[in-house]
Amino acid sequence: MTKSERALRQKIIDLCLEMNRSGLNQGTSGNISARHGDTMLLTPSATPYDQMTPEMIVTMPLGGEDGEWHGPLKPSTEWRFHRDILRARPDAGAIVHAHPTFATTLAITRRSIPACHYMVAVFGGNDVKCCDYARYGTPELSELVLAALKDRAACLMANHGMIALGGDLDQAMWRAVELETLAKQYYYSLQLDGGPMILSDKQISQVLNGFSSYGRQFERNSD
Ligand code: 13P
Ligand code: ZN
Repeated sequence: MTKSERALRQKIIDLCLEMNRSGLNQGTSGNISARHGDTMLLTPSATPYDQMTPEMIVTMPLGGEDGEWHGPLKPSTEWRFHRDILRARPDAGAIVHAHPTFATTLAITRRSIPACHYMVAVFGGNDVKCCDYARYGTPELSELVLAALKDRAACLMANHGMIALGGDLDQAMWRAVELETLAKQYYYSLQLDGGPMILSDKQISQVLNGFSSYGRQFERNSD
């Protein structure tokens, strides 16, 4: 294993630990992947993050047969959507899947997130869609997720959780945290009389234009 691959594997573990420490996820309900050349590096299934070592991270060839993997432990049960997203989305270098409370609450009620805050635009447009339900790990779930991610860098998954993409691991985790914040804000706004006021498509495209010249994280979205 090269030094840089080991560092990437360690970074996946560090982010798993961070997402549980911050309350974004709990237990081993989440999984994280990163592109590494023509392979995917992915967390093993049902393995406590604080027991994970770089050697336990699973390697899966992106162009391989279904279920081909290498490593001492079984890959995440969600290997299929991680692999299919990396195959279909050259803009994605990393994927975070988790079950954060507010994003999952909206997904349980099968709600997409509308343009209730301008930060919805960090996911690529005027909403974050909630895909229909299919059992974890299935080809059906992978198809539903890919459709909900069209032109977007995140989606909710009915009665399950969320997915956030990034050019790299840091950006994917940044989006995961922003998504949970947006979900929380939308959830609370639904409790108040009158509910949320929704920004227009024009207002969101103005934000997208603004992002092309704003800050470090946003700059990476604009290419
Ligand atoms: P794994 O432990 O297999 O990664 O599964 C967790 C999960 O989130 C399934 O949706
Ligand atoms: Zn899950």
